[in-house]
Amino acid sequence: MEEQLDLAPCGYLVMNQSFHVVEMNRTLRDMLGVEDTPIHLHDILTVPSRIYFQTYFAPSIMLHGKVNEMYLMLKGKEHHLPVLMNAIKHNDQFACVLVQMAVRDEYENELLLARRNAERILHDTDEANRKLQELLKEVEGKQQELLDLNVELQELAMTDALTGLKNRRFLEKKLMDLVQLAESSENETFSLLLIDVDHFKQINDTFGHPMGDAVLRELSWKLLRETREHDVVARMGGEEFIILLPNTNEESAREMAERIRLNLDHGSWTQKRVTVSIGVTTYEKGNDSSILFSKADAALYLSKGAGRNRVSVK
Ligand code: GH3
Ligand code: MG
Ligand code: MG
Repeated sequence: MEEQLDLAPCGYLVMNQSFHVVEMNRTLRDMLGVEDTPIHLHDILTVPSRIYFQTYFAPSIMLHGKVNEMYLMLKGKEHHLPVLMNAIKHNDQFACVLVQMAVRDEYENELLLARRNAERILHDTDEANRKLQELLKEVEGKQQELLDLNVELQELAMTDALTGLKNRRFLEKKLMDLVQLAESSENETFSLLLIDVDHFKQINDTFGHPMGDAVLRELSWKLLRETREHDVVARMGGEEFIILLPNTNEESAREMAERIRLNLDHGSWTQKRVTVSIGVTTYEKGNDSSILFSKADAALYLSKGAGRNRVSVK
């Protein structure tokens, strides 16, 4: 073999039609790490490459007279060598050039690794997203719980614990709203009933405090039953109640108070029958909350003074 071909910077071999190696240049022998030229091409191919070679090489070279860039794996002394082989048919022999593909192989390995990493990252991201969704759901749940709790707290803050009626705080706020509304409108008016249980102390003294509580609760739901939806029934404390009557003039308020008093007086009671005294007052121009309270209180005082179980207007 010519020296130039023997030492060319690529592998070179010639084989006959049964793939016996006729000659092989030094570069290829060095690549394979062998002194002598191997006898058969199969001797230098890995098993998968041998199968691949047998399947595609012979039909291809018989059909086209050449084979281009066939990717094969050679058995090197220490490790496998990926090569690209070009072959041409010449005088019933095949002349082959083999270029080592280590760089491409590494590159492919890196690509493979990068792809695996990308797949792993994608999987991790999916997992993280799933966890995030779970957390979001949990946060939403907690937020709803908090909203419910706030509603509950707001309700508690304006509710009388013993009776479940509105409490004094709520009533004062509502009264201020009604005063404001009445001030800013010609025809708007409202009335207020101040209700006090007669001789309640006796009930406590005779039947005990828990029984007194039960009477207050019973009275509460009876008051609710006697009023309209937009009326506000509140417990001011002790055995004293206020009913705000929006859109109600003095005459109607007095009628309502009288009806409430009578129904309580003649109604049936679970344990102890009670009567109430009521003071009625109606908004007049210039009245503020405290004037209204005083007027109602004065009216109640009249009822008590006149013998209780009655309605007075101021
Ligand atoms: P009057 O007819 O003049 O209103 O007489 P009264 O006995 O109803 O009025 P008084 O103010 O002398 O007594 C009110 C009583 O109400 C005294 C107090 O112990 C009782 N009381 C106040 N708050 C409660 C409560 O929450 N539960 C019970 N059971 N009693 C209460
Ligand atoms: Mg009282
Ligand atoms: Mg009383």
